[in-house]
Amino acid sequence: MPGVAARFDEVCAEFADHLAVIDSTGEESYAALGERSARLATVLQGKGLQPGERCAIMVPRSRDTLALILAILRVGAVYVPLDPAYPRAQLDFIVADCAPRLIIAEGSALASVGDLNGVLVDLADIAAASEAADPAPLHASHRDDPAYIMYTSGSTGKPKGVIVPQRAILRLVHGQTFTALSPQTRFLNLAPLAFDASTLEIWGPLLNGGCAAIIDEVQPSLDTIAADIARLGATSAWLTAGLFNALADHRLEAFGPLEEVLTGGDVLSPVHVRKVMDAHPSLQIINGYGPTENTTFSCCYRIPRDGETLANGGAIPIGDAIAGTSVHIVDDKLVPVGEGEVGELVVGGDGVALGYLNRPELTAQKFVDDVFSPGATLYRTGDLVRRRADGAIDFLGRNDRQIKIAGKRIELDEIEHALRAAPGVADAAVAAFEGPTGKAIAAFVKADADADASAVLQDGIRAHLKSALPDYMMPAALRVLPDFPLTPNGKIDRKALLAGLDTAADTSAAAQPVDGEIAGKLASVFEGLLGHAVDRHSNFFDLGLRSLDLMRAHAIILRDVSAKVALVDLFRHPNVEALAAHLRATFDTASDGSIRRCRDANSGAIAVVGMSGRFPGAQNVAEFWANILAARDCITHFDATELEDTFDESLRRDASYVKARPVLADVDRFDAGFFGVLAREAALTDPQQRLFLEIAWEAFEDAGYDPATIAGAVGVFAGTSMNTYFLKHVLSDRGVIDEFTSQFQIGEYQKLVGAGDFVATRTAYKLGLRGPAISMQTACSTSLTAISMAVENLRAGRCDMALAGGVSVTFPQKRGYFYQEGGMGAPDGVCRPFDADAKGTVFGCGAGVVLLKRLDDAIADEDPIYAVIRGVGINNDGSDKVGFTAPSVDAQARAIAIAHAEAGIDPASVGYIEAHGTATPLGDPIEFTGLVQA
Ligand code: ADP
Repeated sequence: MPGVAARFDEVCAEFADHLAVIDSTGEESYAALGERSARLATVLQGKGLQPGERCAIMVPRSRDTLALILAILRVGAVYVPLDPAYPRAQLDFIVADCAPRLIIAEGSALASVGDLNGVLVDLADIAAASEAADPAPLHASHRDDPAYIMYTSGSTGKPKGVIVPQRAILRLVHGQTFTALSPQTRFLNLAPLAFDASTLEIWGPLLNGGCAAIIDEVQPSLDTIAADIARLGATSAWLTAGLFNALADHRLEAFGPLEEVLTGGDVLSPVHVRKVMDAHPSLQIINGYGPTENTTFSCCYRIPRDGETLANGGAIPIGDAIAGTSVHIVDDKLVPVGEGEVGELVVGGDGVALGYLNRPELTAQKFVDDVFSPGATLYRTGDLVRRRADGAIDFLGRNDRQIKIAGKRIELDEIEHALRAAPGVADAAVAAFEGPTGKAIAAFVKADADADASAVLQDGIRAHLKSALPDYMMPAALRVLPDFPLTPNGKIDRKALLAGLDTAADTSAAAQPVDGEIAGKLASVFEGLLGHAVDRHSNFFDLGLRSLDLMRAHAIILRDVSAKVALVDLFRHPNVEALAAHLRATFDTASDGSIRRCRDANSGAIAVVGMSGRFPGAQNVAEFWANILAARDCITHFDATELEDTFDESLRRDASYVKARPVLADVDRFDAGFFGVLAREAALTDPQQRLFLEIAWEAFEDAGYDPATIAGAVGVFAGTSMNTYFLKHVLSDRGVIDEFTSQFQIGEYQKLVGAGDFVATRTAYKLGLRGPAISMQTACSTSLTAISMAVENLRAGRCDMALAGGVSVTFPQKRGYFYQEGGMGAPDGVCRPFDADAKGTVFGCGAGVVLLKRLDDAIADEDPIYAVIRGVGINNDGSDKVGFTAPSVDAQARAIAIAHAEAGIDPASVGYIEAHGTATPLGDPIEFTGLVQA
């Protein structure tokens, strides 16, 4: 039976043109991904990687990483994903344990492990080398050969490597009914690679002709996850219970685009499941259960919407065995328990791992002969379960000291071992308790007789733990005790230890007044999460907060404190004071240098405070509005004598020549003196740039600002159509063209500056604006794209106000066009967007600009506010369409969904929509379908 790489080759052959992967850097078809990975395999072979050998990978989620994993399997080697965030000591242990032939890392991860014998390789180097390599032939792995090794927490103090065979992957993604895995599936790729959810996220789509939709930000915020689900068009996702709950609490709209979501890894919260179900009536939620040793899932439960389960608020079962899997509920002698009785869950079938690397005793203890199917192996999960009358299995807890925090599996004994090795510690005991943000770890130590005072000792122990264990294993509470209470039979009494734990007293911090300043506001966010006062200098992890808690904190800070915090800031400045200092440094400082008040709510919202424009038949926005109210058609129909085109009479009289166009008045007029422009410069300057200068000035005037006296940075984002004025009026003959091109960039400066795409920089120069000034061109979407860029720059604090807009005036203005059946132009020179009689468009001209500010600033500065921008969606439809100029429904829908997600609104709450219709028979239906789909 062929292995995973062979199956991938079959999928490649069948779905060559299908999209296989998408991330923020682009997308790839199966043919492209297959080809790239085969060439990468050649480079790996060149580095000495042989079938059966291990290849450790410390790389972030990306398209390159998937190509790399495929290449490793193609060679017949075994991939071992490592998390670069692990402390050095632990990574070094794992590397020594699995003795990889190669360690492939990227960026800063290259410095995370020791380079034993030159096995460390930079992914960027091998990716570059692969471009010139030939594709490697497939090594025919057997389905029983190992595919990957994944490390999980070990109770003897060191992590253990679970060896997973190729058949286990194949069994997870083929012939299953627990979730839809088809060529239409776009599976979100979000789990850390070193976590076995990644097995489903990678192979679920890639072995079925679907698409892996990768969130490639290493530590994405809840905002990013919500926006990326929409942007990537994901249909399916696997979220740990903790992440599921956090999204349900803070970004409920994130689930909108999904058809199915698997959640699990820990006990589900019925309240959150209900909340997500209610908000998303067509979403299917699935409880996924299983240990790494049985390859992601052993049991699944498709949670019914109208079932009793949620109605009663009772626990959600883990369902029953997935295909290719057997489950039995047994006593400690592997004898099945009676009907409805509690027992340990043991699992069998193709998903069972081959055992633990280099741990024969532990392997023999946990992987036992399958008494129900002789010759096979059973894995003892250690999970206590009971089968309900309806057949579904309920998860009840563990029979050992393994716990789950934020989906990560932790052996409390591993922490105890690490504590005992800390300086000054005579003995240690660790227990789990229910903390304010969920399960948390309490550590108790008995000091050496000669150990320091407890505070010093605690600092030393924490430092030691940080060097030995990953962040998620840090105890939330650490107590130094003179002695441990004992049970009657002489063991440490952990229950008594926990009973004496006053978690609120864990911090020496007395409640500090919330003073309205940043630090106070931040402190109250963390105090809200923890339920007690926090020491503003304590590290977040030491306070017991995990990455997932920081994601929650980040979402609350965005909402309540400041829009300018990135999730990484919480990791880089990991205590309240440090984070506050960072925020103060990046906050707007008023001209007198004092800190501006930190403002609430409205995070990311942008206000339109000024507008101006020129339109056919309207010199300003008010006249334009009046034209709309009066339903006035502003397209001019010319008679043959008026035309400025160069066609001869017979062409002009051709029945298909439509002599109609909206024209802009007075484009030849310009108050050069007002803008400090000389007459010759004005004559050489694209009228589009001149017009933009005028409307930019008017927008400031409209908002009540004099651009010369604005203190902050003002950005300009604008675009123009192709400069046909230059072609028609400046480059008047061949000689002028030759002179201009011969001296291009060196001479003829006035022509160059007047003609080039400098609308934004010219505006910044003439009006003295010091923010980013960016001229842009994205065809028909140029001015909306300008607005989206302005929004981003304002949110990022790169400017305090921004002009955003565009202008299109092309020459000769008085010209017609030839109507073609099925073409873009309207047969009668009338444009009827979204109308049943729409037959085509009429190209015209116009200029428009808005002046934008962060909403909080606009409110504080008492600006007029016309409208508020809450979310923006911007994307491209790639090559997934019939031609370059054709629109695509899916991409339109995705762009709209991104805007919904960013705005944090439910599409069902939208009461009014304005859209830009072209009135072409192809364009409008696509826009409309896109809207409906979104
Ligand atoms: P996974 O990555 O699939 O969660 P781990 O090996 O990290 O696998 O952890 C497996 C353990 O997590 C199980 O033995 C069980 O204790 C717990 N677990 C996993 N899924 C669930 C679930 N849906 N409900 C309750 N507990 C779960």
